[in-house]
Amino acid sequence: MRPSSIFLSYLRLGLCIVPVFPAAVPACAGASTTVSRRVALMGTWAHLEIRAGDPAAAEAAAEAAIRELEAGEAQLSTWTTGSDLARLNATPAGVRVTLAPRLAHELRLVVDWWRRTGGAFNPAMGPLVRAWDLRGSGRTPSPAELRSAVEASDPKKLDLRTDVAIRRNAMLALEEGAWGKGAALDRARTAALEAGAREVLINLGGQVLSTVPFEVEVVHPADPERVVARWRVPAGSVATSGNGERADPHILDPRTGRPAPDFGSVSVWAPSALDADVLATALFVMGPVEGPRWVHQHPDIRSLWTTTRDGDPEVYEIPPRDDILAAPAPRFSGPDAPNPRHHGETP
Ligand code: AMP
Ligand code: MG
Repeated sequence: MRPSSIFLSYLRLGLCIVPVFPAAVPACAGASTTVSRRVALMGTWAHLEIRAGDPAAAEAAAEAAIRELEAGEAQLSTWTTGSDLARLNATPAGVRVTLAPRLAHELRLVVDWWRRTGGAFNPAMGPLVRAWDLRGSGRTPSPAELRSAVEASDPKKLDLRTDVAIRRNAMLALEEGAWGKGAALDRARTAALEAGAREVLINLGGQVLSTVPFEVEVVHPADPERVVARWRVPAGSVATSGNGERADPHILDPRTGRPAPDFGSVSVWAPSALDADVLATALFVMGPVEGPRWVHQHPDIRSLWTTTRDGDPEVYEIPPRDDILAAPAPRFSGPDAPNPRHHGETP
């Protein structure tokens, strides 16, 4: 079956996942219209399918979602100097910066995730991104530079009050790369629903958010043409992290300052898109041993791991749930074959 969806024609890129939406259609009683939009945002594409009771309502809700995505980019992107986050990064240490309440709330959430992931996710790792020149052509920092960047990437040096932030260290820099898209998706969902949408599906550069149960196709970590699994998940969001086809690793372990070892990729489902985005990055850093243990202790989270050995993928869910609808043929068969369903479970 190859359900019709605008999304199927796009985004078979790197770690992208492709939502498969039509299963959701019957959930909506009564007449309805779906509007599809595609816009360039955050250095990638956003694809929206917004369903509402009539065409005008669907258009209005799609417009509201797009405006919110644009506003999110204007607040969060540190690729420009004008955003609120860039302004905070550029403000001298000790000086108060007033933040929009939503941004202040998101910053509290991501700092909290830094604690809850034991530092595997770190929203204040701008010094490390600079040390490795992750936004340029890449470089390897000296041991002394690395030590100083790890020390400077300390979220405790960000003083967050209700709608005010103060950097307590001149080197501290917030980095939204691992959570900005997720935050923007949550904002867009709220805006679309408030504007009258009945159902919302957005694919922002491979991270998908849906207000109804959906399916995604997960591709091979190094081969975007090869679908390794179709994964069924409830309403919420799925994000994927890994190095993809990039030659240089772009996910760092903030605890050591070094690139996280590459094992393949991990996709995360969570009710909130910000959480899914954060946790895909955090679980990639934790890796296929520590990561599954962490997931077992967090029942609201689902994860799908794609590990590669000699290019052959093994795909398994943590916790195991029978929600992988199609997976590649197992590399091994017979009684001695490893059972991927049991990878990483706590003994
Ligand atoms: P993602 O593709 O969502 O996993 O995010 C990767 C981006 O987030 C990188 O390009 C960096 O800008 C940033 N990043 C890398 N490692 C981490 C980390 N451990 N915690 C937070 N942000 C990170
Ligand atoms: Mg992320």
